[in-house]
Amino acid sequence: MGMKKLIEMLKQWFASLFKKNDENVETPDTAGSTDTNIAIIEEPVNEGNDTQVDEPINEPNDEPINEPNNDPVPEHKNWKYVILLDNGHASTTPGKRSPLDKEIPQFFEYEFNRDIVRRLCDKLDDWGMKFEIIVPEKDVDVSLSTRASRANKLCNLYGVENCIFLSIHANAAGNGKEWMNGRGWCCYTSKGETESDVYAEMFMREAKKVLEPYGMTIRKYSSHKFSWEENFTVLVKTRCPAILTENLFYDNKDEVKFLQSEEGREAIARIHMNAILNIQNGAV
Ligand SMILES: [Zn+2]
Repeated sequence: MGMKKLIEMLKQWFASLFKKNDENVETPDTAGSTDTNIAIIEEPVNEGNDTQVDEPINEPNDEPINEPNNDPVPEHKNWKYVILLDNGHASTTPGKRSPLDKEIPQFFEYEFNRDIVRRLCDKLDDWGMKFEIIVPEKDVDVSLSTRASRANKLCNLYGVENCIFLSIHANAAGNGKEWMNGRGWCCYTSKGETESDVYAEMFMREAKKVLEPYGMTIRKYSSHKFSWEENFTVLVKTRCPAILTENLFYDNKDEVKFLQSEEGREAIARIHMNAILNIQNGAV
Protein backbone atom coordinates (compact mmCIF):
# COMPACT_ATOMS: atom_id res chain seq x y z
CA MET A 1 0.00 0.00 0.00
CA GLY A 2 2.75 2.33 0.95
CA MET A 3 4.43 1.65 -2.37
CA LYS A 4 1.22 2.52 -4.37
CA LYS A 5 0.90 5.80 -2.54
CA LEU A 6 4.51 6.56 -3.22
CA ILE A 7 4.04 5.76 -6.95
CA GLU A 8 0.95 8.01 -7.05
CA MET A 9 2.85 10.84 -5.41
CA LEU A 10 5.70 10.41 -7.83
CA LYS A 11 3.25 10.53 -10.80
CA GLN A 12 1.71 13.75 -9.48
CA TRP A 13 5.13 15.24 -8.93
CA PHE A 14 6.17 14.33 -12.49
CA ALA A 15 2.93 15.73 -13.86
CA SER A 16 3.45 18.99 -12.00
CA LEU A 17 6.99 19.16 -13.32
CA PHE A 18 5.81 18.89 -16.97
CA LYS A 19 3.07 21.44 -16.42
CA LYS A 20 5.59 23.93 -15.10
CA ASN A 21 7.94 23.23 -17.97
CA ASP A 22 5.16 23.71 -20.52
CA GLU A 23 4.30 27.07 -19.02
CA ASN A 24 7.92 28.07 -18.93
CA VAL A 25 8.42 27.14 -22.54
CA GLU A 26 5.21 28.73 -23.77
CA THR A 27 5.73 32.10 -22.21
CA PRO A 28 8.86 33.05 -24.12
CA ASP A 29 7.53 31.45 -27.32
CA THR A 30 4.38 33.51 -27.20
CA ALA A 31 6.33 36.67 -26.45
CA GLY A 32 8.71 35.90 -29.27
CA SER A 33 6.02 35.29 -31.82
CA THR A 34 4.22 38.47 -30.80
CA ASP A 35 7.42 40.47 -31.37
CA THR A 36 7.88 38.82 -34.75
CA ASN A 37 4.31 39.67 -35.71
CA ILE A 38 4.78 43.30 -34.74
CA ALA A 39 8.00 43.50 -36.73
CA ILE A 40 6.35 42.02 -39.80
CA ILE A 41 3.39 44.36 -39.52
CA GLU A 42 5.57 47.44 -39.04
CA GLU A 43 7.57 47.01 -42.18
CA PRO A 44 4.77 47.47 -44.70
CA VAL A 45 3.46 50.39 -42.60
CA ASN A 46 6.83 52.10 -42.99
CA GLU A 47 6.85 51.38 -46.71
CA GLY A 48 3.44 52.96 -47.00
CA ASN A 49 4.70 56.07 -45.26
CA ASP A 50 7.65 56.25 -47.62
CA THR A 51 5.33 56.13 -50.60
CA GLN A 52 3.32 58.99 -49.15
CA VAL A 53 6.48 61.07 -48.68
CA ASP A 54 7.39 60.48 -52.32
CA GLU A 55 4.13 61.81 -53.67
CA PRO A 56 4.62 65.55 -53.01
CA ILE A 57 8.09 65.31 -54.60
CA ASN A 58 6.49 64.20 -57.84
CA GLU A 59 3.64 66.70 -57.75
CA PRO A 60 5.47 69.77 -59.05
CA ASN A 61 6.18 67.99 -62.35
CA ASP A 62 2.55 68.50 -63.20
CA GLU A 63 2.50 72.17 -62.37
CA PRO A 64 4.32 75.26 -63.60
CA ILE A 65 6.37 76.01 -60.47
CA ASN A 66 8.13 79.20 -61.42
CA GLU A 67 7.53 82.87 -61.92
CA PRO A 68 11.26 83.38 -62.16
CA ASN A 69 11.44 87.14 -62.55
CA ASN A 70 9.78 87.78 -59.20
CA ASP A 71 12.07 85.55 -57.13
CA PRO A 72 9.02 83.75 -55.76
CA VAL A 73 8.75 81.59 -52.67
CA PRO A 74 8.41 78.00 -53.84
CA GLU A 75 5.37 75.97 -52.85
CA HIS A 76 6.88 72.57 -53.68
CA LYS A 77 10.16 70.78 -53.32
CA ASN A 78 11.40 69.15 -56.47
CA TRP A 79 14.48 68.50 -58.56
CA LYS A 80 15.01 67.08 -61.98
CA TYR A 81 18.66 68.04 -62.53
CA VAL A 82 21.67 68.06 -60.25
CA ILE A 83 23.50 71.36 -60.76
CA LEU A 84 27.28 70.88 -60.55
CA LEU A 85 28.66 74.24 -59.44
CA ASP A 86 32.21 75.30 -60.26
CA ASN A 87 33.38 78.54 -58.62
CA GLY A 88 36.37 79.66 -60.64
CA HIS A 89 39.91 80.27 -59.28
CA ALA A 90 41.12 80.59 -55.66
CA SER A 91 42.52 83.22 -53.28
CA THR A 92 46.03 82.16 -54.38
CA THR A 93 45.40 82.57 -58.16
CA PRO A 94 47.63 85.34 -59.56
CA GLY A 95 45.78 88.28 -61.12
CA LYS A 96 42.01 87.84 -61.30
CA ARG A 97 41.48 91.10 -59.40
CA SER A 98 40.54 94.68 -60.26
CA PRO A 99 43.11 97.50 -60.57
CA LEU A 100 44.09 99.26 -57.35
CA ASP A 101 42.01 102.42 -56.97
CA LYS A 102 41.58 104.91 -54.12
CA GLU A 103 37.82 105.08 -54.60
CA ILE A 104 36.93 101.48 -55.45
CA PRO A 105 37.64 98.57 -53.13
CA GLN A 106 39.66 95.91 -54.93
CA PHE A 107 37.57 93.13 -56.47
CA PHE A 108 38.80 89.54 -56.19
CA GLU A 109 37.26 87.13 -58.68
CA TYR A 110 37.59 84.02 -56.45
CA GLU A 111 35.56 85.75 -53.72
CA PHE A 112 32.87 86.95 -56.14
CA ASN A 113 32.56 83.52 -57.80
CA ARG A 114 32.13 81.83 -54.41
CA ASP A 115 29.64 84.43 -53.21
CA ILE A 116 27.49 83.95 -56.34
CA VAL A 117 27.64 80.16 -55.91
CA ARG A 118 26.63 80.55 -52.24
CA ARG A 119 23.69 82.79 -53.17
CA LEU A 120 22.66 80.41 -55.95
CA CYS A 121 22.87 77.44 -53.55
CA ASP A 122 20.52 79.24 -51.14
CA LYS A 123 18.03 79.77 -53.97
CA LEU A 124 18.35 76.19 -55.26
CA ASP A 125 17.83 74.99 -51.70
CA ASP A 126 14.68 77.13 -51.37
CA TRP A 127 13.35 75.47 -54.52
CA GLY A 128 14.25 72.02 -53.17
CA MET A 129 16.63 71.52 -56.07
CA LYS A 130 19.78 69.43 -55.91
CA PHE A 131 23.30 70.79 -56.35
CA GLU A 132 26.91 69.89 -55.68
CA ILE A 133 29.79 72.33 -55.18
CA ILE A 134 32.67 70.95 -57.24
CA VAL A 135 35.33 73.09 -55.54
CA PRO A 136 34.78 73.61 -51.82
CA GLU A 137 38.42 74.78 -51.53
CA LYS A 138 38.98 78.53 -51.20
CA ASP A 139 42.76 78.81 -51.10
CA VAL A 140 43.81 75.99 -53.43
CA ASP A 141 43.30 76.64 -57.13
CA VAL A 142 42.09 73.18 -58.15
CA SER A 143 43.18 72.41 -61.72
CA LEU A 144 40.65 72.62 -64.52
CA SER A 145 41.08 68.90 -65.35
CA THR A 146 40.43 67.98 -61.71
CA ARG A 147 37.31 70.15 -61.73
CA ALA A 148 36.09 68.26 -64.81
CA SER A 149 36.94 64.86 -63.36
CA ARG A 150 35.15 65.71 -60.10
CA ALA A 151 32.11 66.65 -62.17
CA ASN A 152 32.34 63.42 -64.16
CA LYS A 153 32.39 61.34 -60.96
CA LEU A 154 29.13 63.02 -59.98
CA CYS A 155 27.77 62.33 -63.49
CA ASN A 156 28.47 58.65 -62.83
CA LEU A 157 26.73 58.90 -59.47
CA TYR A 158 23.59 60.74 -60.55
CA GLY A 159 23.46 59.78 -64.23
CA VAL A 160 24.99 62.00 -66.89
CA GLU A 161 21.54 62.84 -68.28
CA ASN A 162 20.56 64.32 -64.89
CA CYS A 163 23.53 66.69 -64.49
CA ILE A 164 24.27 70.23 -65.66
CA PHE A 165 27.73 71.71 -65.08
CA LEU A 166 27.82 75.43 -64.37
CA SER A 167 31.08 77.35 -64.03
CA ILE A 168 30.81 80.88 -62.63
CA HIS A 169 33.32 83.64 -63.41
CA ALA A 170 33.68 87.37 -63.98
CA ASN A 171 35.39 88.81 -67.03
CA ALA A 172 38.40 91.08 -67.62
CA ALA A 173 39.58 92.90 -70.74
CA GLY A 174 43.05 93.78 -69.47
CA ASN A 175 45.77 92.49 -67.14
CA GLY A 176 44.37 94.01 -63.95
CA LYS A 177 46.80 96.98 -63.90
CA GLU A 178 44.40 99.58 -65.33
CA TRP A 179 40.73 100.16 -65.93
CA MET A 180 39.40 99.01 -69.30
CA ASN A 181 36.30 99.60 -71.43
CA GLY A 182 35.13 96.00 -71.99
CA ARG A 183 31.59 95.47 -70.82
CA GLY A 184 28.65 93.12 -70.91
CA TRP A 185 27.46 89.72 -69.71
CA CYS A 186 28.01 86.55 -71.71
CA CYS A 187 28.29 82.80 -71.41
CA TYR A 188 30.27 80.06 -73.15
CA THR A 189 29.81 76.50 -74.30
CA SER A 190 32.25 74.19 -76.09
CA LYS A 191 32.56 74.52 -79.88
CA GLY A 192 29.92 72.80 -81.97
CA GLU A 193 26.21 72.42 -81.39
CA THR A 194 25.23 70.39 -78.33
CA GLU A 195 22.52 70.43 -75.68
CA SER A 196 24.72 72.95 -73.82
CA ASP A 197 24.00 75.54 -76.56
CA VAL A 198 20.28 75.24 -75.98
CA TYR A 199 20.77 75.82 -72.26
CA ALA A 200 23.23 78.67 -72.86
CA GLU A 201 20.65 80.56 -74.92
CA MET A 202 18.34 80.36 -71.89
CA PHE A 203 21.05 81.86 -69.68
CA MET A 204 21.59 84.67 -72.19
CA ARG A 205 17.86 85.45 -72.36
CA GLU A 206 17.55 85.53 -68.56
CA ALA A 207 20.65 87.73 -68.27
CA LYS A 208 19.09 90.21 -70.71
CA LYS A 209 15.85 90.33 -68.72
CA VAL A 210 17.57 90.73 -65.35
CA LEU A 211 20.45 93.09 -66.28
CA GLU A 212 18.98 95.52 -68.80
CA PRO A 213 16.86 97.32 -66.17
CA TYR A 214 20.17 98.08 -64.37
CA GLY A 215 21.66 99.59 -67.56
CA MET A 216 23.96 96.57 -68.04
CA THR A 217 24.45 95.04 -71.48
CA ILE A 218 24.65 91.58 -73.03
CA ARG A 219 27.56 90.56 -75.28
CA LYS A 220 26.03 88.61 -78.14
CA TYR A 221 28.14 86.25 -80.23
CA SER A 222 26.13 87.14 -83.31
CA SER A 223 22.69 88.43 -84.23
CA HIS A 224 21.29 84.91 -84.50
CA LYS A 225 23.36 83.16 -81.79
CA PHE A 226 23.73 84.83 -78.41
CA SER A 227 26.06 82.49 -76.52
CA TRP A 228 29.81 82.21 -77.18
CA GLU A 229 31.89 79.14 -77.96
CA GLU A 230 35.36 78.24 -76.69
CA ASN A 231 36.99 74.90 -75.90
CA PHE A 232 37.69 75.66 -72.23
CA THR A 233 38.84 72.53 -70.36
CA VAL A 234 35.86 72.46 -68.00
CA LEU A 235 33.49 72.70 -70.98
CA VAL A 236 35.21 70.06 -73.12
CA LYS A 237 36.16 67.44 -70.51
CA THR A 238 32.84 67.37 -68.66
CA ARG A 239 30.47 64.63 -69.87
CA CYS A 240 27.23 66.44 -69.05
CA PRO A 241 25.97 69.69 -70.63
CA ALA A 242 28.33 72.46 -69.45
CA ILE A 243 28.05 76.24 -69.39
CA LEU A 244 30.50 78.91 -68.21
CA THR A 245 29.14 82.34 -67.34
CA GLU A 246 31.24 85.52 -67.50
CA ASN A 247 29.34 87.83 -65.21
CA LEU A 248 30.32 91.31 -66.44
CA PHE A 249 33.81 92.90 -66.36
CA TYR A 250 35.59 93.50 -63.06
CA ASP A 251 38.15 95.80 -64.75
CA ASN A 252 35.38 98.12 -65.94
CA LYS A 253 34.69 100.81 -63.31
CA ASP A 254 30.91 100.88 -63.82
CA GLU A 255 30.48 97.13 -63.90
CA VAL A 256 32.73 96.38 -60.93
CA LYS A 257 30.69 98.75 -58.76
CA PHE A 258 27.60 96.73 -59.72
CA LEU A 259 29.43 93.46 -58.99
CA GLN A 260 30.42 94.71 -55.55
CA SER A 261 26.88 95.76 -54.61
CA GLU A 262 24.41 93.55 -52.79
CA GLU A 263 21.80 94.33 -55.47
CA GLY A 264 24.23 93.43 -58.27
CA ARG A 265 25.23 90.13 -56.73
CA GLU A 266 21.62 89.13 -56.11
CA ALA A 267 20.82 90.00 -59.74
CA ILE A 268 23.68 87.81 -61.00
CA ALA A 269 22.59 84.88 -58.81
CA ARG A 270 18.99 85.37 -60.00
CA ILE A 271 20.02 85.06 -63.67
CA HIS A 272 21.40 81.59 -62.94
CA MET A 273 18.42 80.55 -60.83
CA ASN A 274 15.89 81.72 -63.43
CA ALA A 275 17.70 79.93 -66.24
CA ILE A 276 17.92 76.68 -64.25
CA LEU A 277 14.21 76.86 -63.42
CA ASN A 278 13.32 77.40 -67.07
CA ILE A 279 15.55 74.50 -68.13
CA GLN A 280 14.01 72.27 -65.49
CA ASN A 281 10.52 73.22 -66.62
CA GLY A 282 11.36 72.42 -70.22
CA ALA A 283 11.05 76.04 -71.37
CA VAL A 284 14.07 75.71 -73.68
ZN1 LIG B 1 37.59 83.60 -64.20
